[in-house]
Amino acid sequence: MRRLEGKVAIITGAGQGMGAAHARRFIREGARAVITDINKDAGEALAKELGADAHFVAHDVAREADWAFVIAQAEERFGPVNVLVNNAGIIGPGTLVTDLAEKDFERVCAINQTSVFLGTKFVIPSMIKAGGGSIVNISSISGIVAIYGTPNVAYAASKFAVRGITKQVAIEFGGHNIRANSIHPGYIRTPMMTEALDDEQIKIASASVPIKRVGEVEDVSNLVVFLASDEASFITGTEHIIDGGLTAL
Ligand code: NAD
Repeated sequence: MRRLEGKVAIITGAGQGMGAAHARRFIREGARAVITDINKDAGEALAKELGADAHFVAHDVAREADWAFVIAQAEERFGPVNVLVNNAGIIGPGTLVTDLAEKDFERVCAINQTSVFLGTKFVIPSMIKAGGGSIVNISSISGIVAIYGTPNVAYAASKFAVRGITKQVAIEFGGHNIRANSIHPGYIRTPMMTEALDDEQIKIASASVPIKRVGEVEDVSNLVVFLASDEASFITGTEHIIDGGLTAL
């Protein structure tokens, strides 16, 4: 039996990087998934690759009206939703707090943090109809510790908030068999990473990780599938660090 057989999932930010990897893996594990992204071309291309078990919806995760449409589409196509992976996110400008414009702070928080609140708010009624569900929120090690030498107070604020929202939701809706957990990746090789770091910087980053490499998207997909599946049915309100040991230093 495949590990997500019969599950209906929504994965945000699935156009590239980790979200696309999760979408590919979810379909292989037997789920049907609504994949969403603000990048229509990338999302449509992935849906075409994945076939009838995937459906793409163009979606800005920071817009409340978009969320109502995404949930409606998921229910219409596949039925009540069992899994939400809140994956979409941006880094924003990596400047010192003293140089950060309020609008940039607000934008990062809207996409990384408000999105998680909105997704949760809109998916829970559908999960109640489904008899329960699993919300998997992608935070970062920046939601566990401050990263020395990498100024980005907006990213840190948003990723710490994701951890807090996760715990609060877990205790508010545990009685409905709805679980919520956060994932905290370290360096993971995606377009987000390769746009921020050149090859030399990735080598230096790899050397700084106890496991001596950066993570690959499949490393994170393994954890997302586990938390989404019934194998994790007694795990809720917890944070799961996946960083090759970086934050253990
Ligand atoms: P990525 O930039 O490669 O992909 C992010 C996707 O999100 C893109 O397809 C983009 O179009 C989409 N997106 C951006 N803004 C959106 C919006 N407003 N609405 C809908 N979709 C939107 O990033 P990634 O590295 O795959 O990151 C995925 C998640 O993992 C993010 O939340 C990120 O903060 C987190 N993360 C990444 C790393 C890393 O090293 N790559 C480390 C820790 C945490």
